[in-house]
Amino acid sequence: MTITATSLTTVDSLPTRPTAGVGGDPARGLLPLARRADGLVGSVIDSSTSLLAAQSHDIVRFAMGAPAAEVIPTGTFRRIAAEVLDAGSFTYGATEGEPGLLEAVVAHHSTTPEPTRPERLVITSGGMQGLDLAFKLFVDPGDLVAVESPTYTNGSGTALSYGADILEVPMDEDGMDVDALETLVAEAGRTPRVIYTIPNFQNPSGTTLSEPRRRRLLELAHRWGAMILDDDPYGGLRFAGDDVPGFRELSPDDPLVFSVRTFSKVLAPGLRVGWVDADPRLRRLLIAGKQAMDTCTNVPNQHIVERFVRQGGYDEHLAGLRAEYRRRKQAMDASIARHLGSRVVTTAPEGGFFLWVTLQGDDAAVATPRLFEIALAEGVAFIPGPALSPSGRFQDALRLCFASTSPERTEVGVRRLARALDIARAE
Ligand code: PMP
Repeated sequence: MTITATSLTTVDSLPTRPTAGVGGDPARGLLPLARRADGLVGSVIDSSTSLLAAQSHDIVRFAMGAPAAEVIPTGTFRRIAAEVLDAGSFTYGATEGEPGLLEAVVAHHSTTPEPTRPERLVITSGGMQGLDLAFKLFVDPGDLVAVESPTYTNGSGTALSYGADILEVPMDEDGMDVDALETLVAEAGRTPRVIYTIPNFQNPSGTTLSEPRRRRLLELAHRWGAMILDDDPYGGLRFAGDDVPGFRELSPDDPLVFSVRTFSKVLAPGLRVGWVDADPRLRRLLIAGKQAMDTCTNVPNQHIVERFVRQGGYDEHLAGLRAEYRRRKQAMDASIARHLGSRVVTTAPEGGFFLWVTLQGDDAAVATPRLFEIALAEGVAFIPGPALSPSGRFQDALRLCFASTSPERTEVGVRRLARALDIARAE
């Protein structure tokens, strides 16, 4: 079954999806809304930020995929920001990005397996704008977009906003099941325009796409003439195991690989600085597409990021993050073993921010959207499984972010989650 924006169900609370858009919007009928507005399904993940901000009691926040406040280098930012503001960065910048930041991105990648060139790059307002540009360029209404299931629904939601039909492809511990993708495409009787994948430490499952599957995905993309939308915010945050070659390493200069990157998870999400790395022939359209959105990315913030990356210390910063997230992930594993034990199974991420938790046995009958309501009252928040599937699958699963909370807070939060599960079971 493929999912279209209008086939989504409307639910009132955070746990599944917000009510905005999806046909029943209060503005519909009152104002001359475009049909396209029905595709604006909104983000349950983003909505959790305001929902949690409105609570006055203590909540352990495993919901948002945000870096730990303690690891954001605020001292260095303060110093660099003063320099940037003294230098005066208050006018419009080039749409493709500040030349110094483009060079800094190129320099930083020059010694990696995926070097790049300035003509491949456009600086974006976060990774989200890169996703928006990709779907804007490659998806017409009614086109098929294949996504991992579960997926980062801000990405699939952006595809829906351009009228895509979504094909959800099952995953296992090696990432997207590429055989299943082939079968589903054969059943659909049409090929996808875009295959949207988060290859490393996927949001929300934490799993990494294996090298054989990456190679196979490249083959399928070429057979179908489909874009691979390679969304990799977490690749720099591997804290265990070995790197898996990226699409751009496996197939250098491949026009069908469109890579979206961001500084949100490795520096700070509030800066809203990311970039697209794509075939240089797309550059004119990327710039025109971005000009239709925001003219250019926030100029002072680009200078802050440029100086941070250039002034040294960036590699040490990344190494520090990896060590800290390893510690936090191990702490969450230990707390889960202590308080939830065999009531759940979890994935085994080797990096990134997320653990995917599936309820087992009798607990599997508990719907995680309901569990969310109880858990919120008990003082712990997570993202319920159905919010991470365009068709609302995974009633028995949830996403935990282990990156934002200290081991001590994680212990408190997992204990509260276990209590919430007891209450939900008894209902
Ligand atoms: N893609 C994925 C998989 C993400 O997890 C995120 C952030 N949650 C983004 C894209 C968006 O990144 P940004 O905050 O830079 O827009």
